[in-house]
This record gives sequence, structure tokens and C-alpha cells, in this order.
Amino acid sequence: CGIFGVTGVADAANFVALGLHALQHRGQEAGGIVTYDPEQGFNSARRFGLVRDNFTNQSIMDTLPGALGIGHVRYSTTGSKGNTQIRDVQPFFGEFSMGGAAIAHNGNITNADSLRRELIERGSIFQSSSDSECIIHLMARSLQTSIPERMKDALRRVEGAFSVIAMTRTKLIGVRDPLGVRPLVLGRLGEDGWALASETCALDIIGAQFVREVEPGEMVVIEHDKVASHRPFEAKRPRFCIFEHVYFSRPDSTLGGRSVYETRSAIGRELAIEAPVEADLVCPVPDSGTPAAIGYSLESGIPYAMGIIRNQYMGRTFIEPTEHIRNMGVRLKLNVNRALIRGKRVILVDDSVVRGTTSRKIKEMILDAGAAEVHFRIASPPTAWPCFYGVDTPQREKLLAATMSEEEMREHLGVDSLRFISLDGLYRAVGEAKGRDADSPQYCDACFSGEYPVAPKDQIDKGFTL
Ligand code: 5GP
Ligand code: SF4
Ligand code: MG
Repeated sequence: CGIFGVTGVADAANFVALGLHALQHRGQEAGGIVTYDPEQGFNSARRFGLVRDNFTNQSIMDTLPGALGIGHVRYSTTGSKGNTQIRDVQPFFGEFSMGGAAIAHNGNITNADSLRRELIERGSIFQSSSDSECIIHLMARSLQTSIPERMKDALRRVEGAFSVIAMTRTKLIGVRDPLGVRPLVLGRLGEDGWALASETCALDIIGAQFVREVEPGEMVVIEHDKVASHRPFEAKRPRFCIFEHVYFSRPDSTLGGRSVYETRSAIGRELAIEAPVEADLVCPVPDSGTPAAIGYSLESGIPYAMGIIRNQYMGRTFIEPTEHIRNMGVRLKLNVNRALIRGKRVILVDDSVVRGTTSRKIKEMILDAGAAEVHFRIASPPTAWPCFYGVDTPQREKLLAATMSEEEMREHLGVDSLRFISLDGLYRAVGEAKGRDADSPQYCDACFSGEYPVAPKDQIDKGFTL
């Protein structure tokens, strides 16, 4: 999901809408905005679909007055996929003795089921099926006398991955979980304004200056133009999601001071060194494979070319609700540049292989167009484990790499060769010169390694085995 918040501007809702639009790649299913205005109080609008189709509508925007606002774009994760209801769309709102508060959450709470059971037994009335709603009910049960303190109480009981943006009548609040699994950045907007966002690209769109990342385990409370930093959790070694570098974040964002584009290009260079092959063209699977393909081409000296053309008006295939639609999606979205491909040995670079549906379709299309050879190069290690921290991956059984060796995958996809970047190669590309520290990994890489930095409690209760 994508989250955004702003304070100290004349019409916060418009800024939030723009910020969410820049974060649309993080979730396309639905979006919501909450604002506060001293005369009109809290207002909210939650809609299915894209930001540009909802939050450009003047009659909606007119209902969101105020100088303080937050928003959320939703990308539903395991379980709720395809049957999201409008009541599941964030931000969530709670009324407390000291006033109202709204929260927007990116990530996934790994002990949400047990928290929900406990809260319901004690009288909480849930409005949604979302794990994020637990935070509001935990806040309601806290005895603290301010909303930031109640948030701290609540979040200390929550396990898993969370970047949260919250607002009260006067405050804009940002928090990252102790491992900092999901991103969150702070920006300055003009003389009086501040913004919080999942990624720096959302600061760029509103002309805000990047100030710094909210640190893992940190809570920032912005009020009256001042930013106060709190440390509500026990300090831990951070484990940022390495897959944000590979796929999830936008290439024009920076993560941990590194350009995502540069990192992806470095992944391509590593791949070219680890897995060279003689060929005529290097082609990305657009758009997610593009920077890595450029890196592969630069390192190998094999010309880069646009062998597959993407229809710009389709969403990301993966984010569509059912397998059936996803299967069609590849063809609706991508087409082979036949004149270029005919008779050529082609290296195709993509970011990841999950179920293998995309790669299989693309291989068919490329061979159909008369390619002489097809070599797949993948910018991440085999995805053999599901993510329980807010990136949607299917159940383990559906992951190609969970049941097949690399050679079996190659055969299944029907390509001349298939190679994945090594985990160490990926760590080098994100700036860890010595590769992965096996005793204490610098990132979360559970979907590749099976080493989960936070035990996926709810999943284990449901029978998931590590
Ligand atoms: P597959 O077709 O193998 O199931 O999915 C792989 C494709 O889905 C890749 O091209 C990748 O760009 C895209 N994708 C979209 N969202 C995700 C995600 O959340 N995780 C992964 N691993 N791939 C994703
Ligand atoms: Fe990121 Fe993978 Fe960890 Fe999920 S399991 S947080 S996708 S690295
Ligand atoms: Mg892709």
C-alpha cells in the first residue's frame, strides 16, 4: 500500500491526492483521504479505483476541507484479495476522549488474528476485515491521555511490518516498526508545511524537499511546524524489505540514500557478470524489468532494445484480483515488437518470477514472433516463500520456486536458459559490498531465503510451516 500525509498547507486534500497519485503503483484497488478543518471537523472520502478517477472530482474534493490530511492507496494482501469492501478502505478513524484520530497503515500485522479475537472478546466492535483496524481498537483501550501515547501503547502490541501515518486535529504522526520493513519519508513543504510519504517520488510531485527517512522504530510527531522524534520501541537491527529495491518502489525514488533506478541497474550488471550468455539483444519485460535490463546491456555490451511494448493504459498484472483475469492480463498489457525480434537470440530481463504466468506467456509471444533463442534473466533470487509483511504473494504451493529446481523451472517455462541473481549478488547491488551477512542479514529477504525476521504468528496458527 501507499500512504501520504501533509500539514500546514491551504488545501491539504489536493496535496494528498497528488501524493497518492505518485504512489499509485503501491496499490490500485482503492484509495481514501481524511482531512481536518477547525470549522468542518474531520471529513473522509473512500473510493474503489484509481486516485485520478476519484480524487480529481471537484464534488468529492469539496467535501475534504482543511490544512491537515492523510491518505492511503490500497493493495490488498493475502486473504482479502478480490473481495475488498469499502469499509476495508483506509484511512480508519476513531473517536477518543481527547478527540478524533485517523490512521493509514502500510504493511501487514502478523498477529492480527489473535489481537482481533482478544479485542472482540473484550467488546471492540470491528467495522472492517482489515488487520490495520486493530490499531484503532488497541488505541481505544489504552489509558494514556494523548493520542501519540495511545498509538505507542497500541503499536507495542502489534507484530509484523508497519509504516503508519496518523493525524489528530492538530498533529501529523509517522511511525515505522522496529525493523523498518516498509519505507516512510519526511519532507518539508515551503515555509510552514510538512509531508510524510511512503516514497520520495510522492514528495517530488508536490514540490516538497526530502528531509530524511523516518527511522526504523521511530515515531515523528509534527505539530505547529515542529517535528518531535520519539523512540517507542526497543532498538533492533533494521531489516528493510529488499524487494522494495527490486520491484515495489518506483525507480525515481530513493531508499536509504540510494536511487532505486541505480540499484536496479546495478542488479542488471551483477546478473550479466553472474549469468552471461551470448545473444543479440537484451530486452526488458516492461516496466519492472527495464532498469535491470539497461544494467545487463551496459555490462555485457549486448545492445538494449524494446522487444516488448507495454500498453500504458493497463495496470500492473499482478495486482488484479483473480488468476483468470491475471492470465489474460499479460496479453492485454504486453505485445511483442515482431519486426525487431524475428531471428534474434533474445535475453529477457524481468524483476521476479512468482507463479511463472507472466514469463510463460511472454516466452510464447516471443517465440511466436520468430525469436531464435530466449534467455530469461531475473533480477531477484527465486521467490520460494510467501511474504507476510505487506507484499502480496500467493500461498507457498503456487510459487514456482517452492516446488521446482532452477532447471525444472527452465523446462516449465520452456526457455533456452533461465538464471536468477544470487542473494549475495542482490545484496552487493543494494550497496552491501561484502554481500549478505548470514549471521545477521542486513535486510528482510524472507521471500527468497525463508528466514522470517518476525515470526508469522497468524500463519503458523493456520498451519504454515517454516
Ligand atoms: P508471475 O507471473 O510470475 O506470477 O508474476 C511475476 C510478475 O509479477 C513480475 O513481472 C512482477 O513484475 C510482477 N509483480 C507484481 N507485483 C508483484 C509482487 O507483489 N511480488 C512479485 N514477486 N512480483 C510482482
Ligand atoms: Fe520484502 Fe520479501 Fe521481506 Fe516481504 S518477505 S518484506 S517482499 S523481502
Ligand atoms: Mg513485471
